[in-house]
Amino acid sequence: MSDYKFKRVLLKLSGEALMGSKEFGIDPDVPQKIAEELKPAYDAGMQIAVVVGGGNIFRGLSGAAAGMDRAQGDNMGMLATVINSLALQDTFERNGMICRVMSAIEMHQVSETYIRRRAIRHLEKGRITIFAAGTGNPYFTTDTAAALRACEIGAEILMKATKVDGIYDSDPMKNPDAKKFDTITYMDVLNRDLHVMDATATALCHDNHMPIMVFNLDEDGIFDRALRGEHVGTIVVD
Ligand code: UDP
Repeated sequence: MSDYKFKRVLLKLSGEALMGSKEFGIDPDVPQKIAEELKPAYDAGMQIAVVVGGGNIFRGLSGAAAGMDRAQGDNMGMLATVINSLALQDTFERNGMICRVMSAIEMHQVSETYIRRRAIRHLEKGRITIFAAGTGNPYFTTDTAAALRACEIGAEILMKATKVDGIYDSDPMKNPDAKKFDTITYMDVLNRDLHVMDATATALCHDNHMPIMVFNLDEDGIFDRALRGEHVGTIVVD
């Protein structure tokens, strides 16, 4: 553990990250790669919490755009995050990492119910702890769930793994001259409307001084390098 800068972190994975090269659902190679990325830190005793999105399966906003009741669609989106959480748990366990899933929506047969003190106990015992079903409320996102849980469990940093290697001043996929930030303030993220996380999540991190690190999970070994204190991607601070 001594080589690592952090002791307790929360990793946010988007549902889309799990799709890999597929158009929908889960590419099993992706959870496997994530498991391999996390294993060295897990073996060293790092306390790792995970929040995963559901966008690879369903998003409430898409349902609403098609005429569905927004809250009903959001409930479906939250259930999608449970599917992703169970897939991750299965992969982590097959890679020798003990893992618990705690759902914000009660689902006794497939997961534990989220109880903050119990979550902290799991982490203290070295179990990867996945927080499923977002916040348990419609009209929120899993980015907000990640910010909320990171604050609740006293994580030192919220690590958001995405498909880009940090935060840019414009979309690097569309603008080849887009400039990447090494660090940026929460207020700049909000004022420039940078969409790294939704505004609710960013504001919650701001209010609670929760640093956010944004990096590309596709880069080999990046999670381990970040946990050792290397400055990777972009860090959002006060
Ligand atoms: N969701 C919700 N409340 C939450 C978290 C998620 O209603 O606290 C729903 C919402 O419909 C969202 C979907 O679950 O679109 C999937 O989550 P998200 O879009 O954050 O996933 P990601 O973009 O990270 O894959």
